[in-house]
Amino acid sequence: MSKLTMRQQANLKSPIKDVNEQLNSVRSCFNLLHPLFSPGSRIVDHFSSRISFHSPSSSSDEDLYQHLQSLNLVFRSSQVNPNSAAVITDRGVKKTHVVTAAAHIWADNSVIKQLRVYSLNVTSIKAELMVIHTGLTPAMEIDGVHDITVITNSIAAVKKILESKVNPLQNMFIPLASAIKMFLSKDGRNKICFWYCPSKAEWPRHKLVDDQVKASSCIPTFPSKESHLFSRKKECDNILCEWQTYFTKSLKKGHYFLNFEDEKERVIKPTYAKGGSWLPVIGFTNSLCARFTCMTTGHAPIGEYRQRFFPHLPTSYPCGKAEVQTREHIVMECDRHNPSMRPCNTIINSFVYFLADNPEAFSFDNG
Ligand SMILES: [Zn+2]
Repeated sequence: MSKLTMRQQANLKSPIKDVNEQLNSVRSCFNLLHPLFSPGSRIVDHFSSRISFHSPSSSSDEDLYQHLQSLNLVFRSSQVNPNSAAVITDRGVKKTHVVTAAAHIWADNSVIKQLRVYSLNVTSIKAELMVIHTGLTPAMEIDGVHDITVITNSIAAVKKILESKVNPLQNMFIPLASAIKMFLSKDGRNKICFWYCPSKAEWPRHKLVDDQVKASSCIPTFPSKESHLFSRKKECDNILCEWQTYFTKSLKKGHYFLNFEDEKERVIKPTYAKGGSWLPVIGFTNSLCARFTCMTTGHAPIGEYRQRFFPHLPTSYPCGKAEVQTREHIVMECDRHNPSMRPCNTIINSFVYFLADNPEAFSFDNG
């Protein structure tokens, strides 16, 4: 393509050209020399005491409850102080890849500004930046406001703006980081606090924005170019989906393979993210991991396996209550194991607890 003249490119119609335009028009994403990311002139170098982040100390419901109580107090105090404003943001992605970012700016106990922007074909981190930008920039421009509380469900994106690491989205951070720096430089009293508020918490004022995002509909009427990051993500999602479909249908995983569910009762599918699907749950000791694998695949030192592959070997169980020592008998019925730890569902942790409590189950030492 690069050997064609501009005129030839304009006249050419081919799928290769379309693909080239769709995938290879990678925008320059790095600006390593920008002063905002140079040590000594970064936001954190000068204003770290005037930017703060507030999240629950753990993912437990109690900590989230405590966090929301504190958020209530902070929000109320921001509404009685004439020099304060609160910005509440949310974003949503539709199946059409349209991202809606919405923000409400609150002052004196009422919404003084409602903002909404749309974008197409962006990754989640870019969408999160977009939503912060949408709400925070106009709030920083309000006369007399020195103290801004931003309430968002995407606090990780904001933290990235202040990092000085090389990041493919660095160029996107620059306008927002510059605006933040200008706001903080303008007046020594200016400060920004970011408060995490997950949508699932349904904190009433955040829910107002969330409902607005969910209700919004914007249908793209023209094709949009994709960024390099978005194309990469889409390709990756397709490969993952193909892998999961293949795994579900393939007999290579074995006839005896047990399908487990995660804590949210979703069937566990293979993934490469966060250490994979099964290992993070079962991998805390080698022996448990080995016994879990034996149990899951059915390739274990038990009668049911011997019956299939070594029929001349004994198949009954030492308890004497099962003609054939099956996996089901060991897990669900056998008196040799602690009945209080028997799994009562197909959630993976139930089986892990059972194996941890019964170190002889599916063990080769047990013969
Ligand atoms: Zn038994």
